[in-house]
Amino acid sequence: MYIAGLQLIAESYKAADTKTQCQKCQRLGHSTKDCINQEYCQICAERHYTRQHKCHICQTIGVECPHAKLKCRNCGENHRANSQTCAMWEKKAVSSVSPAKSDITMKNSSDFAVVIPHVRK
Ligand SMILES: [Zn+2]
Ligand SMILES: [Zn+2]
Ligand SMILES: [Zn+2]
Ligand SMILES: [Zn+2]
Repeated sequence: MYIAGLQLIAESYKAADTKTQCQKCQRLGHSTKDCINQEYCQICAERHYTRQHKCHICQTIGVECPHAKLKCRNCGENHRANSQTCAMWEKKAVSSVSPAKSDITMKNSSDFAVVIPHVRK
């Protein structure tokens, strides 16, 4: 038995971005529900939700129209905040190198030095 018409559809499952972008403030690294920031438009980087983005020329709301003056919230360039051309994505990818945690030094050890008196028997 052959399964006819079996096609590889895996390609349509474009690898979802593992990096998180907030849909509210457009910043990277946290999800929308964890956002504590002001809302910013993904299209024009103004202070409104993306769905409230409005074109005064064609009166469309919440979508990118030909008149939209694109501005990236993250880098300031003329693309949408979720644009894959944004340099922020690459920066984020390489900045995952965490510095060694060596906060605990022996510098302050004298604070903890306890003078133990000789116990005479
Ligand atoms: Zn956010
Ligand atoms: Zn907008
Ligand atoms: Zn328009
Ligand atoms: Zn950008």
